Amino acid sequence: LKLCENIPKVELHAHLNGSVRPQTIKDILDERSRAGEALGVTEQQLADITVGGERSLRDCFRLFDVIHAVTTTHAAISRIAAEVVRDFAADRVVYLELRTTPKARPEYGMTKESYTEAVLDGIDAALRQLRAVPPRAASQQQLLLAAQAQAVGGPGASGPGAGAGAGAGASGAQGADGVGVTSPSHEQLVAASEGVVLSPRAGQRTTAAGGGLHASSSGAAAAAETAAAGSEGAQGPRPGPGPGLESGLESGLESGLETAPHLIIVKLLLSIDRREDAAAAMETVQLAARLQSRGVVGVDLSGNPYVGSWAQWQGALAAARGAGLRVTLHAGEVVAPEEVRAMLAWRPERLGHCCCLDAELAAQLKASAIPLELCLTSNVLTQSVPSYPEHHFAELYAAGHPVVLCTDDSGVFGTTLSREYAIAAAAFKLPVSALHELARRSLEYTFASETEKAQLRRLMERELAALE
Ligand code: IMP
Repeated sequence: LKLCENIPKVELHAHLNGSVRPQTIKDILDERSRAGEALGVTEQQLADITVGGERSLRDCFRLFDVIHAVTTTHAAISRIAAEVVRDFAADRVVYLELRTTPKARPEYGMTKESYTEAVLDGIDAALRQLRAVPPRAASQQQLLLAAQAQAVGGPGASGPGAGAGAGAGASGAQGADGVGVTSPSHEQLVAASEGVVLSPRAGQRTTAAGGGLHASSSGAAAAAETAAAGSEGAQGPRPGPGPGLESGLESGLESGLETAPHLIIVKLLLSIDRREDAAAAMETVQLAARLQSRGVVGVDLSGNPYVGSWAQWQGALAAARGAGLRVTLHAGEVVAPEEVRAMLAWRPERLGHCCCLDAELAAQLKASAIPLELCLTSNVLTQSVPSYPEHHFAELYAAGHPVVLCTDDSGVFGTTLSREYAIAAAAFKLPVSALHELARRSLEYTFASETEKAQLRRLMERELAALE
């Protein structure tokens, strides 16, 4: 697992509310009941979220309903988004494509748009905080990535391709929350990264004043640090400290330990829930199209696979394509050959799962060469596949089909992307070099712009070379 934690990784299939920390759901529930609100969530339902383990797909969707019953405020949504980004960053994910279903909840004053803005605000807040990691706690690569993220989406970036990671830069310049915020410039960050001398014993505790990065950091580094700290102070909802990785981050920030997470570029996909009709799906697509400048890069079709039919979302998905958005579809989570055939014929940019394909469809999938997001723990725990060694990853990987390891719902299934890599290594007897190659190739299947891909490629090559 440790080896996998060190690999710079790419996460392409993570549902926001499935990636929530169970403790956060409990916290929110406690806060709301202290405020006298009854959300109708029982102790047993709460326990079901925190317990983890094997559950059927149907049980999973009941669990999502419970999570959604708790996460009804914009502040809660922003907090969850911020925590999820920080958790992935702490797991050495350098590029994250998060997805979420915009929710209109008039009874809580929430529209699909305000929900999505709250998610984007949470992402921005986390990115600003991550960029505020003091130079003494950051490796040279971390600073370079900060500089690259800034360059990609820094002041002036506004069109499609300026991501939320980049959006951190954009919002840093403009203030996503309307607050005037100053970000360190690209030049400042590059100077910071070049002006510092790495401690020869990187990975060990450095004192605030002596040696290491901090003592030898340039004025630009200090300026970058100050500016980033300023932006943190000016941000909107700040996620509260929580357990686990979160406390690692907090202590890293305070003490300058190398436990501070690496920086990360984040994009958002908006999901169409299979319960939604054509009009609701279209509304989500139009929202995604409008929010491209804030890092929304695509649309996903997900939700209970026993519900809905392909024809009802086709118009919206075609509109997404027309608007320059990329499309990924949950396919074949249950046996549904007609639907999978139609989805393959439609040729989305990526597919998720494809667990229940017969031989003919599996052959069609391979012939299509459509990159596939695979979620080992999720598929095994929901019994979509019988066991890890029997997972279709093995066959597709052997056939050279483009596959990406992903978490799906890290909170609900109690996993991390590093853990998914470790499981793949054990189940399919992959050497470390194969894991590195998987991470490298995953980058090619992202919905990032070509410029971002080139920058991330350079970063990953440098980091993987250091590991090799
Ligand atoms: P949200 O979209 O951020 O609210 O994340 C939770 C939602 O993601 C669920 O309600 C489902 O619609 C979707 N989802 C999460 N995991 C799965 C899965 O394994 N299959 C299909 N849909 C999923």
